[in-house]
Formats: sequence, C-alpha cells, structure tokens
Amino acid sequence: MSIAALSPDLILTNGTVLTADQNNYQAEAVAVWNGRIGAVGAKSDIEVLGDNRTQLVDLKGRCVLPGLTDPHVHFADGGASMMHRLDCRDFYSNVRSIPQIIEKISEQAQSQPHGTWVVAHGSPMQDFRMPEGRFPTRHELDVASPNNPVTINFGAHITIANSKALELAGVNKSTDAPPGGAIELDDSGELSGKLVERAQYLVREVVPVYSYEQMKKGILFASERCLSRGITNIHDIVTNHESIRAYQELEQASELPIRVSLLIRVIEAAIQKESLLNLGIKTGFGNDWLRIGGVKMSIDGGITGHVAKFYEPYIDDPCHEGLIRIEQGELDETVSAYHKAGHRICIHAIGDVAMDMALRSLDSVLKEDPRVDHRHRVEHLGNWLVNDERLDLIKRNNILPVPNIPFMHYIWESLLACIGHERLEESFNIKTMLEAGLPITSGSDGPAYWPLDSLRDLGTAVSRKTWTGKTVGADQAITVEEAIRMFTINAAYNAFEEKIKGSIEPGKVADFAVLEQSPYEVEPARIKDIPVDMTIVDGEIAFFREGADGLAA
Ligand SMILES: [Zn+2]
Repeated sequence: MSIAALSPDLILTNGTVLTADQNNYQAEAVAVWNGRIGAVGAKSDIEVLGDNRTQLVDLKGRCVLPGLTDPHVHFADGGASMMHRLDCRDFYSNVRSIPQIIEKISEQAQSQPHGTWVVAHGSPMQDFRMPEGRFPTRHELDVASPNNPVTINFGAHITIANSKALELAGVNKSTDAPPGGAIELDDSGELSGKLVERAQYLVREVVPVYSYEQMKKGILFASERCLSRGITNIHDIVTNHESIRAYQELEQASELPIRVSLLIRVIEAAIQKESLLNLGIKTGFGNDWLRIGGVKMSIDGGITGHVAKFYEPYIDDPCHEGLIRIEQGELDETVSAYHKAGHRICIHAIGDVAMDMALRSLDSVLKEDPRVDHRHRVEHLGNWLVNDERLDLIKRNNILPVPNIPFMHYIWESLLACIGHERLEESFNIKTMLEAGLPITSGSDGPAYWPLDSLRDLGTAVSRKTWTGKTVGADQAITVEEAIRMFTINAAYNAFEEKIKGSIEPGKVADFAVLEQSPYEVEPARIKDIPVDMTIVDGEIAFFREGADGLAA
C-alpha cells in the first residue's frame, strides 16, 4: 500500500474554516496527513476520507484560522527575562508608582545575599503612566537596595542603575558615553542612574547573562503563551549565539513548539557584523521550523526614551532630540554588503529622520544593484508619518513596512504626549497602506513589553480601540477579512514562506488556531477577547484550552 492510500491522521470538521487563500474561501473541514494539509472542503467530502486510524475533531461550529504569526518579537531574550527579572511592568502586574517599584526591589534585595544582582524590568513609557511622571532615580534605587547592584529597564532603550551597579560597571560622572548612547547627569551634575541606548551596554556587560540553557527555558516559556493565543510562527530578533544555539538544540530535539524565523542583529550585537557574510549563509537557510529570516539593524532609538530621531523636537521635552545609533555611512555600507550577499534586511526606524535614512539607503542600493523579491523591511514604519512622498518611495522599491499595532493599543496617550497630534494625524494607517498594495502585517515587540497576542492585534486593526477603550483613527479601520490576512498570509509572505504557510490549502503546513467564535460574529472590540480553544502545529494538538466545552478530540 502506498502512503497516499492511507487515511488522514487528523480531520477537523463541522466548523468554519477561514482559509485565507486567494479567494478567502470558507470551508467546513480540513484533513491532515503527516503534518501537512491534504484536503480542505465541505464536511461531507472531507469526513469520508477518514477511518478508524484518523483522529477526528468535531469543532461544533468553531472557527479555524491558519496559525497566526507575530513578525517582530524579542523572544529568546524576552522569554528568559520574563522568567528571571523582577516584574515591575504595569502592563503585566499591578505596579503603578515609583514607591511600588522601590518596594518590590527592596523586598528582593533583602531576600538575597549582599552583592547579588537585582535585575528588574518595567514597561515602555511607564514614566508617562505613573503619578510621578518620571522614572525612579539612582538615589531611590540606592535606598531600596544599598548593598546589591540593581538595574531596571523600561522597554529596550532606557535602563536605570543604582550606585552599586554603576560602580561595578566602572561608570562615574566623568565617564564618556559611547557613540549612540547617553549617560544622564542630574541638575547637580551627578549621575542620575539613567543610561540610554548604547550606554546601557556599560552595565549590561557586568550583569550576569542568560546561558543558552536559560534561553531554552525562556523560549519554551514564551511559546506556551503563543500557543494559547493561536500563534504558531514568530520572527525573533536575536543578538547573541546563545539564543541561536538554544533554538537549534530545541529544533534538533523536536522540542521547538512553534516555528521561528531568525532576524539576526548585526550591529550592536554580540554577533560580529561580518559573521553571516563570512559564512556565505543566506536568508532562507534552515527548514520549516527554524530558518534565517534576514538581518536586523537599528538606526535610531525608541520613542520610549525620547531617543527616536525626529526632525521636530519632542513636545514634552524639547531638549531631547533623539539619537542616531548608526550613521548613514555605516548604514549604507552594511545594507549594501548584506543586500549583495542575498540577505533580506530589516531596519529599525522610529523617527522620521531615521525613516528617511532607511528609505534612502534601500533606494540607493536597489538602484545600484536591483534585486527582484528582496522583501527588505523597515521596522516600525507605518506607525506614523508615512506621507505620500514616503509611501511612493516604499511602493516604488517594494519595501515592506512593519508597523506595531500594540503601540496604538497600549501607549497611544504617551505617544500623543511625546510627539503630539500633528505627527500622529495619519498614524497606524493600515488601510491606506493595504490600499496601496502593500502586504502589511504587524509585529508586537513582545513579550517583555506586553503580552504576545496576535489575535488582540488583529482585533485592534478592526476596532481601532486602545486598552482604555478610546478609538483611534476610525477611518483606518480594516475589515475582518483583511485583518486575518495581515497575521496569516501577509506575514508568511513577509518571511518568504507564502508557499508553505499562511493559508489553509493542500500542501501547506498543518498549523491552525481554533477559535471559540468567528471574528466575523462578534463586535470588533471583542475580537481580541475571543478564546483560542485549540492550537495545532504540524498536525498535532499543541494547546487545548481547559474548559473548551464539548470540543472532543
Ligand atoms: Zn523591536
């Protein structure tokens, strides 16, 4: 008997299967052979394929989507920090003020021997949401922990350190900040404890780093969250060999719970800029589970520390003007080298100065050395300030903007305070970009920033609601159909994987998110709360929600 003659391993039936294929065909059932989709169609056509060796899942009217993708995460590091850092993040815990942060740090410091590190993390722009309207200072951290070194980061761009930590890092008030970084002094000329962008590495170099074993645990920990929200694919920005080794060991042991595309940071990383070039490894290297998805570099800082580089000053803090971490020359050189070596390039650009630098660099390299289907990305482009001129340049060069819907959902008010209405007038203009023919997806920047939840982001693209219930730019709301495509087939295209992932069609990987209800059947504002009842990866049930009533496998 040939393999083709065998009955399916798995059939999902009696539901609404939103295939996200070219016609957005809705089926009732799907059959899976050996981790791949074999047939999709009407219940009666699919059920007859099964026999007593087939696992039959009666969906009882539930909705099936292709497994969702989050195309911009800091996952291995983020997962490990979720497990090991003291949690002072307001999006996760109930920490809402500086005294509460101090209390948590003090508790941990007192429970540990003198000299042991206390490494905490807060949320991006938490200063805006705390009654004090600022971050804690070195002196406050000293009171909380006089004998133990302390650092607390707020997002990726700001770290506050206490005196012990600064002392161990060899930082004093006359230390020069590295290029692309800043060491803040207070009004009396003393260290405030705040280290910005590249200056954060001064203390990071003395903080104990995560081993690859801890990274492995972090990946597994964060993957559980993904599976519980129907996410089966991520694009992880990795900065060191430990995380890559961790992924590889998990994959080789068949223990990697989700599929991973690695975006390897080649500037400001523990990875040498030339490594991939020297090896001759190109984007796409790997397999359906673990693959090199491109290289990453960051031009400016984050808006979360007033270090994104804009032409106009910050509204709330006109003395800060942002920070360029990579000058145009270094950027052009790196982009050109990686472009010529066959890599896809992902450039972080938050402020409009950085956006223009990224677009200029890509435009000139593509003029000099045209390459069809490069799929170069600009991270955070599409959040704001995509005017007609920039949109033309993006379209002309087939650049993929990767906006971040969670920025709108979680920090809208802080963005307004920082850069004001005018610059946010056409923000998160997903509809405009889709209408321009761009296959837009959205990355979360999680999980350390806020929980990973592509279904929340899908719902927000439709509802345009923030976490406090405010509506932002209702005219840019997109349809449920478009929103589903964003997190499935568009995201697969973004990873050069549209032929094997992103829709429910024969031949593709059998990765599905089974939702309790169809996103078409609930109010837009409620899409984000739809429970995921089951997540299937490679034809295997990888997550099953306790209490998913009557879902029988
Ligand atoms: Zn990021």
